[in-house]
Amino acid sequence: TSKMILQNPHPTVVIPDTSISTYMMKNLAVHGNRVALVIDGETGQTYTFAEIRQDVIKCSSELVRLGVQPGDMVCMCCANCLEYAVVVIAAAACAAVVTTCNPNYTTDELIKQLSHSQPLMVFCNADNYSQLKKVAKHVSSIKQILILIFFRYTLILTRTSNFANQYTKSIFDWNILFFTKRKVEPKEDTFLLPYSSGTTGLPKGVMLTHTNFISIIEYFDRVGFPQTGNDVLHLVLPQFHIYGMMMTMCTLAQGSRMVICKRFTVESFFKMVEKYKINLCVSVPPMVLAMYNSTLHSKYDLSSLKKVISGAAPLPLTVAEDVQKKMNLEIAQGWGLSEAVPLSTCYVSGIPLNSVGLLPPNTFLKCVDPDSGRELGPNEEGEICCKGPQVMKGYYKNPTATKQCIDYDGWFHTGDIGYFDELGFIYIVDRLKELIKYKGFQVAPAELEAMLLDHPDITDVAVIGVPDVEAGEVPKAFLVKSRPSLTASEIHKFLEGRVSKFKYLRGGVEFVDIIPKSASGKILRRELRAKEKLKKSKL
Ligand code: AMP
Repeated sequence: TSKMILQNPHPTVVIPDTSISTYMMKNLAVHGNRVALVIDGETGQTYTFAEIRQDVIKCSSELVRLGVQPGDMVCMCCANCLEYAVVVIAAAACAAVVTTCNPNYTTDELIKQLSHSQPLMVFCNADNYSQLKKVAKHVSSIKQILILIFFRYTLILTRTSNFANQYTKSIFDWNILFFTKRKVEPKEDTFLLPYSSGTTGLPKGVMLTHTNFISIIEYFDRVGFPQTGNDVLHLVLPQFHIYGMMMTMCTLAQGSRMVICKRFTVESFFKMVEKYKINLCVSVPPMVLAMYNSTLHSKYDLSSLKKVISGAAPLPLTVAEDVQKKMNLEIAQGWGLSEAVPLSTCYVSGIPLNSVGLLPPNTFLKCVDPDSGRELGPNEEGEICCKGPQVMKGYYKNPTATKQCIDYDGWFHTGDIGYFDELGFIYIVDRLKELIKYKGFQVAPAELEAMLLDHPDITDVAVIGVPDVEAGEVPKAFLVKSRPSLTASEIHKFLEGRVSKFKYLRGGVEFVDIIPKSASGKILRRELRAKEKLKKSKL
């Protein structure tokens, strides 16, 4: 084998050739009547492993009764909740595909995504169901809207005129007790369809198979993030995103307790740590930064908290070092992406803080020069490419985009720039792809650019991410205007309501005469980014 290809240091893992639902049910059965999930908030409701298992059985039979066929799409458009995983596992048991979306999306954003995924039914919350009724007017595939109204009960709206026909029912009905176990091809059939913009362009459906997902759970169990039944994990990462979904499933499979929260404030987090004796926390850099800036450490007993994992965006080193000292805990970075469930580099003790860890089992990695395609050796920076059983099948209904990122040898080109050292530690240094990450949330420049071009007074546009201490990055737009009096505040107003708040142009608006482009008409984002850097350094 080539010296240029990083071999993972672990023994090969045999991935069970089964469906994710069978796999999860088997694991849930092992953990019995211990509490699996706790929800934050006044209710403090709990779910035991045995109850989750029972509810998956009931929910799967209810989904079949509602007409779910193999290959149908079941859309999750809800905030973090206890039932999230139940519905996901039950839908998988019906051989349906689960597609997830951000419940805070605007109506337009939801229409765009759901028109593409064409779900049969949508699960939502009490506060966004009227929005989904509007969405369903434009997306005729939606036959039912299921509102998770209160714990383990659902209000079901069926497609009549304006979804007026509604009835309350527990999708976890006590009377029906058969577990649907439809056959799937674990390596072929898609289980999960989250959306990601990938290297370039608009958000795309990422087809993750049953095997893709099981491989990550198996890795985590062995080397990535092994947990014991005594661990208590804090989860506020959104379950619609691959990071939150993967942590939910891994933790359930491994049998530790999870405290699920809908939103993060440092004080509520500290309260949860004290109340539930949380020892593990999976986070994104802004959460670590909030711990760093907090003055509340002494107000709560935080002695149980031992490990904080940070992923989804780069973690500032000084912040990490300070939090480690101040809170007497260990911080480690993980790296990954939706297209690889999310690949998940492995945490090991003694890892350098600026590294994202080791390669997981069964996985190979190489760095290539983005211009020449030459394979690079240790300590040479290039585009990270990987290969392994967790790499997606492809983008949904988009073979062209799939071909652009998975080459003929099966290497997946991540669009991230990094290197590995002689010890096999991996470092991420930059991003080749145009993606912007605001507090870990994906912002696709192409989406904002298309929207801004809809403005009658804008003739050309480019959006890039600019560094921001709190959010990591914020989107900034360069605009060519045809009406000289057009102002930045008019642009901000134009975007309000059209896009989710996290996509707002917090990096500002700059009017320019021309957008730098290559001969083939591609926006030269690197040039714009370099100019921004230069401006900053002169300040
Ligand atoms: P997503 O598909 O939303 O999980 O986004 C994946 C992208 O987030 C990666 O391709 C990286 O660009 C970025 N990312 C994830 N983890 C890290 C990390 N630890 N350091 C730097 N960038 C990261």
